Amino acid sequence: MTMDFSTIFRQKRDAIIERWIESVFDAQQIDATNQLTFEAVRNSLPKVLDSLAVMLAGDRTDKFKAVDEASIEHGIIRADQGFEPAEIAREYRLLRTVIFSALEEDLVQSSPRDLLWAIRLIDTVVDEAIAQCFDSYTQSRIEELEQLQTQLQLTNQELTRLIRASQENMSKLTHELKTPLTSIIGYADFFIRQQQKPDTKDTELQLESIKRVLRNGRFLLRLINDTAQLQQGDGHIKLNMELIDPKVLVRSVREIVEPLARTKGLDLRVDCDRAPQQVQTDALRLQQILTNLLSNAIRYTEKGFVELAVETHQDHRWSLVISDSGIGIDQSAQDRIFEPYFQVCRSSTSDAEQGTGLGLAVVAQLVELMQGKILVTSKLDHGSTFTVTFPIEPTISNA
Ligand code: ADP
Repeated sequence: MTMDFSTIFRQKRDAIIERWIESVFDAQQIDATNQLTFEAVRNSLPKVLDSLAVMLAGDRTDKFKAVDEASIEHGIIRADQGFEPAEIAREYRLLRTVIFSALEEDLVQSSPRDLLWAIRLIDTVVDEAIAQCFDSYTQSRIEELEQLQTQLQLTNQELTRLIRASQENMSKLTHELKTPLTSIIGYADFFIRQQQKPDTKDTELQLESIKRVLRNGRFLLRLINDTAQLQQGDGHIKLNMELIDPKVLVRSVREIVEPLARTKGLDLRVDCDRAPQQVQTDALRLQQILTNLLSNAIRYTEKGFVELAVETHQDHRWSLVISDSGIGIDQSAQDRIFEPYFQVCRSSTSDAEQGTGLGLAVVAQLVELMQGKILVTSKLDHGSTFTVTFPIEPTISNA
């Protein structure tokens, strides 16, 4: 009578699994199991053994289908668990040893023909399992590498973009610094040459050169200060949030910009009728935002008005609306005016009023930091409106 290996195998299945798991845990050369639980190591092995039992029963209708499915699953899990290929090969070698030693007694009692048939079948099934397992393991690893590669490509693109942007900013900055510096050197040089001439002492002319040196020096300082603030990065700007009356702040900013508007004969209007009583803000930063926007409005308006309105909204927000009847901003430039050093066209005004191209970049940075939003609407030759909206009580804690 031929031996029923399938039944014997089924009876010993759990013992085989247990012994195999123990030997996998004990194997010095399989490190991946150090962090794993019993269940995790066991994973789809019972399925591999069940399909082996089916095949030992002589049922070869589905051939290796069940073995293949179980081994594919095993490979994916092992890849996920961080097994090395050599470790997988070792765990299968152990499986073969465990199966044969569990069946040893029964095998030696069977006929030589049955014995050979069973050994060949077990070997073939284990080999097939190894092949499928490696296949799916490699596939998982390739997918993992592809994901990693995509991620790396994205990071690389972002880094390249950042480097290019900072290179562009750097070359714009050097360009911006060059003009006032050349001017300072030129006027200082002229002043010294005038001084060295014994007879011609035109004090008026000399005074004018010193004034220009001073103006350009101040402009340089502004440029450097604004650049330094932008370079600080959002994480390093400390806000000092406090409850203030926006009308008081508006009054002090008005005092700063009024002389500029007066010099240009502009009508400076301020409307605080709809202003909130109190807002939570960083007063100094808010003053910086407002001064920048108002001085821009004045700088780019030759006639007419500059208006500041403070408004309260229903949704616990409030706005500062700065409008002017100035030169306006072309639609295509409106998206770019918040970029550092971007200027629609260099103003023809005197160097005392010259813009740095950094004002709006600083404003945008501060507005975002204070959880606000800035919007611009403008029509060329008709004027511009900048609207800055903040929460009345932003969720910012003092650093
Ligand atoms: P700048 O120091 O040159 O004023 P900003 O960053 O403050 O730099 O502004 C960027 C550019 O946006 C300006 O050069 C100017 O062309 C344009 N701009 C800003 N505000 C106004 C405005 N109120 N009216 C027209 N153009 C403006």
